[in-house]
Amino acid sequence: MMDYAVLLEGVTRRFASGDSQVTALSKVSLQVRHGERLALVGPSGSGKTTLLNLVGALDRPDEGAVHCLKRTITTLSEKAAAEFRRRHVGLVFQDDALMPELTVHENAELPLALLRTPKAARRRAAADILKDLGLSDKKTCFPAQLSGGEKQRVAVARAVVHRPDLLLADEPTANLDADSAERVLNAIESLASEKGLTVLLATHDPRVYERFHRVVRLEDGRLVDEG
Ligand code: ADP
Ligand code: MG
Repeated sequence: MMDYAVLLEGVTRRFASGDSQVTALSKVSLQVRHGERLALVGPSGSGKTTLLNLVGALDRPDEGAVHCLKRTITTLSEKAAAEFRRRHVGLVFQDDALMPELTVHENAELPLALLRTPKAARRRAAADILKDLGLSDKKTCFPAQLSGGEKQRVAVARAVVHRPDLLLADEPTANLDADSAERVLNAIESLASEKGLTVLLATHDPRVYERFHRVVRLEDGRLVDEG
């Protein structure tokens, strides 16, 4: 296995759909270098979310192998997969649910609490990342007091506070106006380049084309590389 951050080899994933089957991904092979920022585009239903779930060890393929950060995801136990996610992966989704009863700062700290990071270190790490994302003055706010774009930036903060190696973002700007989307993408981009993060981001947003190292397109579960 080469030293790629992410390597998919002939990955097929099928889902039962009533009496028939949907092939969500069909023989997908993909290599992502360490520190690469890759945008995954394609119409709704083309397999973007399925691919991200496989890379994040949230799901298993029916055929093929998924390697991620020197691990063969496809052979990890459930427990090892969960541990892998907690330590090495950051996830951001389309409508990212923050905990409504926790402040911005407490939301951002959550992944570190799961890793049993001591409180002082947790505070510091969350404060740093919120500062990077221009959210310092929102620290004590609750999610209900934030705009959609601010909430998504908190979700990004939470996804990277434990310094993962890999950030998986599933249409993180889908429900945002143009300005907020721009700020979220800027935030992801600058964090990624500063911290050497590898990023896989699924999107419909053509603005990512300029910012990402590579854009690959999925169509009907097949990869059409745009180079
Ligand atoms: P995208 O994220 O590009 O919109 P998805 O990966 O969500 O596409 O879905 C790809 C295909 O797989 C779609 O046809 C979808 O309906 C199907 N699919 C995805 N997840 C499931 C599931 N858990 N059960 C059944 N079908 C699914
Ligand atoms: Mg999707």
